Amino acid sequence: MKFSLACGDVMPGCTSRFTSTSREQLMAEVGAHARADHGVVDLDPQVVRTIDSKIVSVPA
Ligand SMILES: [Zn+2]
Repeated sequence: MKFSLACGDVMPGCTSRFTSTSREQLMAEVGAHARADHGVVDLDPQVVRTIDSKIVSVPA
């Protein structure tokens, strides 16, 4: 099982997609991307919940 997230589901207009084998790793990658490309310094709990709700699991 893998986990995938389209950043555009959270940040409209962004075309970046992330896939990882763990939710924790995926969240770390998305967090790093948000900081680097969206200027998000700190992911507040509401943003984390929104991201978490957009993560989809895909068969490995
Ligand atoms: Zn993005």
